[in-house]
Amino acid sequence: MPHLTVIGAGIGGLTSAALLLKQGWRVTVLEAATYAGGCAGTFFHKGYRFDAGATLAGGFDPTGAHTRLAEILGLTWNTTPIRDAAWVVHLPEKTIHQWVDPLRWRAEYLENFPYSKTFWQIQERLARITWNISTRDFPFPPATLKEALRLPLALRLDTLAAAPYLTRKLIGLLPRQTPADFKAFVDAQLLISAQAISKDANALYGSTVLDLPRRGVVQINGGMGGIAETLVKWIRANGGEVLYRQQVTRLESKNGRVSAAHTHKGLRVEADVFLGNLTPWALEKLLGKAAPTRLRAEVNRRDPMWGAFALYVGLNAKIIPQPITHHQVVMDVNQPLGEGNSVFISLSPLADFSRAPQGLRTATLSTHTRVRDWQNLPPEAYEKRKAEYTELLLKAAERALPGFRNAAQLIMAGTPHTFESFTHRPLGMVGGFPQTSLLGARTPHTGMKNLWLVGDSIFPGQSTAGVTLGAMRVARLLQD
Ligand SMILES: Cc1cc2nc3c(=O)[nH]c(=O)nc-3n(C[C@H](O)[C@H](O)[C@H](O)COP(=O)(O)OP(=O)(O)OC[C@H]3O[C@@H](n4cnc5c(N)ncnc54)[C@H](O)[C@@H]3O)c2cc1C
Repeated sequence: MPHLTVIGAGIGGLTSAALLLKQGWRVTVLEAATYAGGCAGTFFHKGYRFDAGATLAGGFDPTGAHTRLAEILGLTWNTTPIRDAAWVVHLPEKTIHQWVDPLRWRAEYLENFPYSKTFWQIQERLARITWNISTRDFPFPPATLKEALRLPLALRLDTLAAAPYLTRKLIGLLPRQTPADFKAFVDAQLLISAQAISKDANALYGSTVLDLPRRGVVQINGGMGGIAETLVKWIRANGGEVLYRQQVTRLESKNGRVSAAHTHKGLRVEADVFLGNLTPWALEKLLGKAAPTRLRAEVNRRDPMWGAFALYVGLNAKIIPQPITHHQVVMDVNQPLGEGNSVFISLSPLADFSRAPQGLRTATLSTHTRVRDWQNLPPEAYEKRKAEYTELLLKAAERALPGFRNAAQLIMAGTPHTFESFTHRPLGMVGGFPQTSLLGARTPHTGMKNLWLVGDSIFPGQSTAGVTLGAMRVARLLQD
């Protein structure tokens, strides 16, 4: 059986590794950090378990990506379902609950945005079609001839109804003269789940992710890192290797094939097939002169992905006893989102005592930020910017959760530099590519015969559920 070496123990790398191990492959995962999960990891600090990036876990409904993976592998996720509101959106003059229950959600949007009924009806119909496609084997966009031949098998008659939206933008579905608060509401959700707002996001992709709150949202007990930890445990129990503190610094290649991965500890691992749980920029660096021309052209041509600014806060749970754990704040609906104007806030559940010392709970706050604006700053300017963003995020938190500032016992900031050093993603680019065009979606192709990409750089991109779908597709491709 072939030997697979995976660079990176993010959700994408671990999922593909586990699926191929199940098929009898020999599997080695090399991870630079001391724990798994990358952007969906949970780290320890002074008795707290902070979610590093991802906090909201979707895709645990009966046909969701995480559920299907668990069925294939025969494992159980340690989760608690969220049954009321997946999250609460705080606009300057409205508070909207993203209810998990579709009937309750319909009543909520009709009350807050009475003119939006037709929009949500189209969105729901498109989402139903695309979620259904995603439960079949749908290798999109095809990276091989075999995949291209398999594509039509996943289509059904109702898929045709989605065809007119293939190249449209989501903004085209919004009511004419959409009020600023409704547009900000939709855009804020698109930004966190499609990395693009309605004027840029593809209509089908956008409709799909707007359904997220009603697609199996759960709490991962112990923190988001539990997804990766469960996968690592499964891989090890089934004879695979996951090696921490092994940062791959170079990929050795010969005749258009990768022959070995070298780590900073001097380890050299040979394999038949390599998977990079990496961005194209990171992969190109590892290949050096051997990087295929197309990969090199891609990294020069593409705009950088978004970055994130995050705050990790230890809170007095008596002052912030809020049972709903996820909140999204838009400070000004007439201003661009991100950069502190839209902030996602996640509290650890009150009942999860593993997350913080007694009487306390954790909070992870994040906002989208342009990575270039954090580059090459002199130390003083960098610290100033960090302090400004800290203040913006605390203000947003205070809006959603009054008393937040007083409740804070510990505050740590994470800039794109922090994300770069902890996830090894160049410039701290996170969240994958903005999903603006289905026809331009990225395949796992790298230009090297036995090297493929996995993770949020490939379609369908960001989120633990999205990355899991992409990784399932890559595992299937490698078995072909
Ligand atoms: C602030 C923020 C908030 C988010 N919120 C959510 C959310 O609420 N819900 C959601 O579902 N998703 C969310 N996401 C997105 C989600 O976290 C990611 O899309 C997903 O986790 C990416 O997984 P990945 O497989 O691409 O791997 P990554 O998370 O990028 O992990 C890659 C791994 O590879 C390792 N690595 C990199 N280079 C090397 C090397 N050279 N050698 C060895 N190891 C290496 C890294 O250390 C890392 O562990 C969020 C992301 C961020 C940043």
